[in-house]
Amino acid sequence: MKNISLLVFSFFFIVATSVAQDKKITKQGHTNTNKFRQLKDVLATPNSQHTASGAPGKKYTQQKVDYVMDIVLDDANTKITGNETITYHNNSEDELPYLWLQLDQNMRASDSKTPDIQSGKVPKKIPKKWFNRAFPKKPFDGGFKITSVTNTNGSNLSHTINQTMMRINLSKPLASGESFTFNISWWYNINNHRTQGGRSGYEHFSTDGNNNYVIAQFFPRLCVYDNVEGWQNDQFWGRSEFALEFGDYTVNITTPKDHMLGATGVLQNESDVLTKNEQKRLAIARKTFDNPVLIRTQKEAVKIENKRAKGTKTWKFIAKNVRDYAFATSRKFIWDAMAVNINGKTVMAYSLYSKEANPLYGEHSTRAVAQTLKTYSKYTFDYPYHKAISVDGQMGMEYPQICFNPGRPNPDGTYSDRTKYRMIKVTIHEVGHNFFPMIINSDERQWTWMDEGLNSYMEMLAELDYDKNFPITRGYPKNIVRYMSGDQSKIAPIMTKGDNVYSFGSNAYAKPATALWILRETIMGKELFDHAFKTYAQRWKFKHPTPADFFRTMEDASAMDLDWFWRGWFYTTDVTDIGIKSVKKYYTNKNDDESVNFIEDTSPGLSFSTKKSKNSKYHYQITYNKPGGLVMPIIVEFTYKDGTKEKKTYPAQIWRYNDKEVTKVFSSSKEIKNIKIDPDLETADVDISNNNWPKIKSNKFDRFKQKMKN
Ligand SMILES: [Zn+2]
Repeated sequence: MKNISLLVFSFFFIVATSVAQDKKITKQGHTNTNKFRQLKDVLATPNSQHTASGAPGKKYTQQKVDYVMDIVLDDANTKITGNETITYHNNSEDELPYLWLQLDQNMRASDSKTPDIQSGKVPKKIPKKWFNRAFPKKPFDGGFKITSVTNTNGSNLSHTINQTMMRINLSKPLASGESFTFNISWWYNINNHRTQGGRSGYEHFSTDGNNNYVIAQFFPRLCVYDNVEGWQNDQFWGRSEFALEFGDYTVNITTPKDHMLGATGVLQNESDVLTKNEQKRLAIARKTFDNPVLIRTQKEAVKIENKRAKGTKTWKFIAKNVRDYAFATSRKFIWDAMAVNINGKTVMAYSLYSKEANPLYGEHSTRAVAQTLKTYSKYTFDYPYHKAISVDGQMGMEYPQICFNPGRPNPDGTYSDRTKYRMIKVTIHEVGHNFFPMIINSDERQWTWMDEGLNSYMEMLAELDYDKNFPITRGYPKNIVRYMSGDQSKIAPIMTKGDNVYSFGSNAYAKPATALWILRETIMGKELFDHAFKTYAQRWKFKHPTPADFFRTMEDASAMDLDWFWRGWFYTTDVTDIGIKSVKKYYTNKNDDESVNFIEDTSPGLSFSTKKSKNSKYHYQITYNKPGGLVMPIIVEFTYKDGTKEKKTYPAQIWRYNDKEVTKVFSSSKEIKNIKIDPDLETADVDISNNNWPKIKSNKFDRFKQKMKN
C-alpha cells in the first residue's frame, strides 16, 4: 500500500515539474546557482601534497626550523635580551633566494601602523585604564631592537625589515634539501599587558612589587613557506594570529634566582632550579592521578615574593617538534601538578598561579587541564607531549604545552559561578589549542576559524565532560541566531581573513563551532561525524592543513556530500529560516478498482470533518517555505490529537529543485493537532514565528519585541 501511494505522488510530482519547465523556456540562459553544486571551482585544485581525498599526499613536505636560544630576563628593567641560532631546513622542492622572519613585537614599536588603521571618535566617557592606554603619558618604546644578524662565522648577514617582517637576503639561493644556519641577537622592552594590552607581557602587583611574566612572540621566528601560500608573510596587525613551522628548540632562560618558571619543553636541569623538596613532591605528583599535588605551596610562594634573593639561575629546556615557544615566570608562582593517564601514557598537567588566583586555581585549573587532554585525545589523537601548563596570566592565549588564562576570585577568596566557569572555559579552550593549531598546525594568519572554530567546538565537548551542566555560552545553534540575523553589512562569511571581520568572536569562534555542532548532532550523526573529524585530526597532526583538506576529509571519511553545507555556512552569510506556508487535508474515497480519489477536507484548522470515511488515512499536504538563504534539513514534529508525537527529518537535498518552497505529503492513521518545525532548535532558525501550524498568534509581548527589532 505504501509503495503504491509513493508511486502516485512521484507521478504527480513529475508531471508538475515538466509543466513548470515548459513555461520557463527562454532565450536567456543562466549560470549555475544551485546550492548543491560542487565546490570544485572554489576549493584549491588537489595536488600531490594536498590530495583530492583531503589527506596529505606522497609528495607532502614541510620546512623544519630549529632554534638554539639564550634568553635573559631583566626583571628590574622589564626587558628581555635574546640570542638565537636558527637552522632552517629547506625540505621543499623550491630554491629559496631569501628567508622571511616574523618580528611580532614590532606591532608595539613607536612606528607601528597598527594604531593607524583603527578608526575612532572621541567618546563621552571611558574607564580610566582605557584612557591611559589610548593616551599614555609617555609613548611606549616597544618593538624588537635587533642588535645583530650574522652568519655562523660572525660576518654580517644582509637583511631588510618591513614592519613586522624581516627578510634575510641569502648570498646564494638555498637549494632544495639544504640547510642554512644563522644568528640573531635582540632585546626589547616588555609591555605591561594589564595596562597596555597584548598577548604576552608582565602584570605588576603594587602590593608586593612583583611582576608575573607571561612571555611569547619574544624571538624572531621563521615564517611558513609552502606550496599553498609561498611565504606566509602577511603583516601582523595584532589580530590574525600566527603561521609557524615545526622544529626542535634548545632554550636556556636566565631569571632572578627566586623565580618559579614554566616553559615549553622538557626541563633538563631540575636539580639546579628546583629545591630538594620540590623535586621530591614532583616525583610524587608524577604518580598521582586523582588530585593535584602542590610542588610549591602558597605559604612558600608568599615568603619568596616578600623577599628578593640575589643572583640568577638558568632554566634549560629541550622541546622537540613544536611550532613555537613560550614561558611564564615569577617569584609569586604557586605550582601544582597531577598525572594524567592518556591511553596508558602519563602526561603531566601543571598550573602556575599567584596567591591572587587562589583558591580558584588550586581547585580547578589543573583539573581543567587534565580534562582537556582526556577529552581532546578521545576525539583526535593521544596528546603527544609530556605536559600541559595553565598559567594564571589574566588573558587567554595559547602556546605549545603552555597557555595563559584569566580568572581571579574576590580579595576574600570567594568567587561567583560566573568567574569559576569563565576561568574553566578559557583554560579548556587554551589548553585545547595544543591540538588546534599547535599540532594540527593550520595557518592562523589566514584562517582564524581553522583553529578557533574547531577548538571552540571541541571545547564544548570537554566542558560537558568536566561538568554535564556546564553553562555553554557558544556553540549551541540557538546561541548563534542573534549574530547571524544581525545587520548583514557587518557580517562576513567564515571564510574571511581574521583581520577583516567585524564580530571576531562570533565569526571565527562561535559560528564555525555551531556549524560543526549541527553537522554532528543533526546532519551527519555522531558516529559518522566523530570518525571523519578524527580522521582529519590524525591525517594532519604535525602538518599544515588547509580549509579544503578539512572539507574534503569530512566528506571522504563519511560518504556524505557536504559541499552545500560548506558553501552555505562557510562561504556565505545566509541564515536558516524555514516555515510552514500552508497545509491542506485530504481523505480517500475508493470509487472503483482502478483508482483512488483524494477529496480535500476544507474544514478549518487541522481537524477533519465527519465526512471522512473511517478507513481512510489522514493525508496532509504541507507546503514548507524557506525565506532563509541556507539550505538545511526540514525537521518536523507532528503532535497527534492523543498527545503523542512523531518526528520526521527531510534531508537538505529536498531543496535541490526549488530553493523557495517544497510540498510534501504526510499520511498517518491518527489525526494531527499541530505541526512544528525544528522543535529542538537544532538549525539556528532565525525566525521561529513561522514554524508552527496552526499558526500561533503572537501575544502582545512578541509583537512589541518584533517592533523593537524592526
Ligand atoms: Zn582560541
